[in-house]
Amino acid sequence: MRIYNTLSKKKEEFVPIEPGKVKMYVCGPTVYNLIHIGNARPMIVFDTVRRYMEHKGYEVNYVSNFTDVDDKIIKKAVEEGVEATVISERYIAECKKDMAAMNVRPATTHPLATNEICGMLEMIESLIEKGFAYKASDGTVYYRTRRFKEYGKLSHKNLDDLQGGNRSLLVSGEDQKEDPLDFVLWKPKKDKEPYWVSPWCNGRPGWHIECSVMSKKYLGDEIDIHAGGEDLVFPHHENGIAQSEAANGRPFARYWMHNAFLNIDNKKMSKSAGNFFTVRDIAEKYDLQVLRFFMLSAHYRSPLNFSADLMDAAKNGYERIVTSVSNLNYLLENVASEPMREDEQALIEEAKGFIKKFDEAMDDDFNTADAISVIFELVKFINTNADSSHTAEFIKALKDEVVELSDVCGLIVERKEELLDSDIEGLIEERQKARKEKNFARADEIRKELLDKGIILEDTREGVKWKRA
Ligand code: AMP
Ligand code: ZN
Repeated sequence: MRIYNTLSKKKEEFVPIEPGKVKMYVCGPTVYNLIHIGNARPMIVFDTVRRYMEHKGYEVNYVSNFTDVDDKIIKKAVEEGVEATVISERYIAECKKDMAAMNVRPATTHPLATNEICGMLEMIESLIEKGFAYKASDGTVYYRTRRFKEYGKLSHKNLDDLQGGNRSLLVSGEDQKEDPLDFVLWKPKKDKEPYWVSPWCNGRPGWHIECSVMSKKYLGDEIDIHAGGEDLVFPHHENGIAQSEAANGRPFARYWMHNAFLNIDNKKMSKSAGNFFTVRDIAEKYDLQVLRFFMLSAHYRSPLNFSADLMDAAKNGYERIVTSVSNLNYLLENVASEPMREDEQALIEEAKGFIKKFDEAMDDDFNTADAISVIFELVKFINTNADSSHTAEFIKALKDEVVELSDVCGLIVERKEELLDSDIEGLIEERQKARKEKNFARADEIRKELLDKGIILEDTREGVKWKRA
């Protein structure tokens, strides 16, 4: 599996730190409003990376934070006359709803910056001790950028160019800095702002230190993948590297992945520019699976222009897969439930070639555009080869394959109501067997799997009963 690493500007073979395991950190949103579909791009892209890693057999520890203390959150709280936590809690809850609606799986851990202040104080303290940070007279703590010799290695920027670009900072009031390149680790509170007590002043953390600390706490000093949108390369991730590597004395992340922007009229979609659609806006017009399909129909490192035409094309593409699966379900209800014949086995072998092709596309830096084309090829193969002359086992094998590959992309291609009675009963039987063998984890998993598909189980004295939610 090859991943494009922003650090080396090359595709590199993926070698995990610990065999079979992936430690991955994805920078999450600042929660002061409903998320827009630009924010949804990294969520969908990196959820798909996670799913593919799992499909390849890796155990993925996936951490994605919420930035819940920030100027914009505070401003909104003041406008509404409430505490900042009211705003952040509200939009974290809304964001989680949007993620679920886009079939983005919850992270292993979703840390909140405000719960991790202790770790931030420790890391800042250690940076001061090592000479990488200093306190200014107003209590602000700055990172001494020039002390970190490798500064600029991620964004491929040269310190002297930055110095020129940042000179204006000198006249913007940050005159307590030793050097215009230095950045804030801790800043004093202003009037109504939330604050924490620290050895330097009552205040709050800078944004960059949050991710260094949350990544360290939940994944360790060195992680496999650190990811986010390309606007985070500089300064957020560059500063993250400077902080973590100086404090921990180890490389921060092996692979740095960045998605390109979702644009409108070739301009980055952003809250500040006002050219955005929220995920909720889109949900009023489209099934959010169509949004997911649209995002994955481009490579994650290519800019993607949002338009109604492209969304309509995505809708057609997505429905082509759904219709094919629906036809397979119809056939399953109507064909003989006999074991697969030899001629059918040969066809299934041929169909397995699509899995290999799909994996090859994904192994090449997660080329979801090509991977989706392979799903289309499989759909074509299914539409040509599956008819009522076939056995149920054959039809089921084709269905399993197309559902599995779609699932790696997080695409739900089987409508919930189409779960067949026979499938449900099969799973209930498997659950009973697991319970008999005291494999309660598997039994619970089956119950959850059924619940996700709207099937509720009831354990009664007469046995297991089920109903559709
Ligand atoms: P923010 O809430 O602005 O910190 O953004 C959260 C995540 O969304 C970050 O990874 C950003 O890089 C990403 N992001 C924001 N706007 C866009 C966009 N228009 N296209 C792609 N990614 C974006
Ligand atoms: Zn971050």
